Amino acid sequence: RVAYVNGRYLPHASAGVHIEDRGYQFADGVYEVCEVARGFIVDMRGHLDRLDRSLRELKIGWPMSRSALEVVIGEVVRRNRVKIGLVYLQVTRGVAGRDFLFPAGVRPSLVVTAKKVDPSVGAKRAENGIKVITVPENRWDRVDIKTVGLLPNVLAKEAARAAGAQEAWFVDRDGNVTEGGSSNAWIVTKDGVLVTRPADRGILRGITRTTLFKVAAKLGLKVEERAFTVAEAKAAREAFISSATTVATPVVAIDGEPIANGHPGSIVLSLRNAFFDVAEKRQA
Ligand code: PLP
Repeated sequence: RVAYVNGRYLPHASAGVHIEDRGYQFADGVYEVCEVARGFIVDMRGHLDRLDRSLRELKIGWPMSRSALEVVIGEVVRRNRVKIGLVYLQVTRGVAGRDFLFPAGVRPSLVVTAKKVDPSVGAKRAENGIKVITVPENRWDRVDIKTVGLLPNVLAKEAARAAGAQEAWFVDRDGNVTEGGSSNAWIVTKDGVLVTRPADRGILRGITRTTLFKVAAKLGLKVEERAFTVAEAKAAREAFISSATTVATPVVAIDGEPIANGHPGSIVLSLRNAFFDVAEKRQA
């Protein structure tokens, strides 16, 4: 495998950034994960738009021009021969002696990696559905920025695994689900309406979430952007998660309680099936 690190393509196994990189010391950086499907990079424009927003919110500069970054992403995908898999890109504020204040005159660090993913893993999860647990929301109030500061997400997902589940849903003080540890959260009401939380500062505006709005429109499904409680989710017709790596994956149990008959819902599976046709595709 090959990784791109600050201007060079290096063997993945030995690629590294400096010990005083601010990503390492302060989680002072942002990232994106894009899906690669059938040799196409999915929704690259949306991911780079969101990267731009994350960088601007943190006053980190672009490490190179957007068009140059698009070339690097394509090159990393090709060099790793990824047809089905994902691209990871990370930009940090750069390398400087440890000091909380922004350093002057440093170049942002850029890492781009790509890896193959076995498609049968996602297919199996879609077929069986996943289980989620709920955990109290304990993240900062700027989770709309896709930073590498993911410790609450790490702990929540580890708690999910310990409980035999595959994702954790954060629940705010009002009892409403915000989102998953690495995904957006959705339910389908008894009337067949899709419900997902508005993309305010309480969630990350998922690129997959945005594309699913288009998929829903194409399938003639109604979407409501509003908060929903854990109780409403448990009583829903269907529940599911969305992210670049999971697309739309059914949730069949919440905190050990089955959703509907405990099997994946048909609406989420129809969204999943139609997703790739609707998403923007860039040949790698
Ligand atoms: N919410 C969180 C906290 C995430 O980490 C992610 C993706 O990893 C998402 C939502 C889904 O975003 P996207 O659809 O852009 O992958």
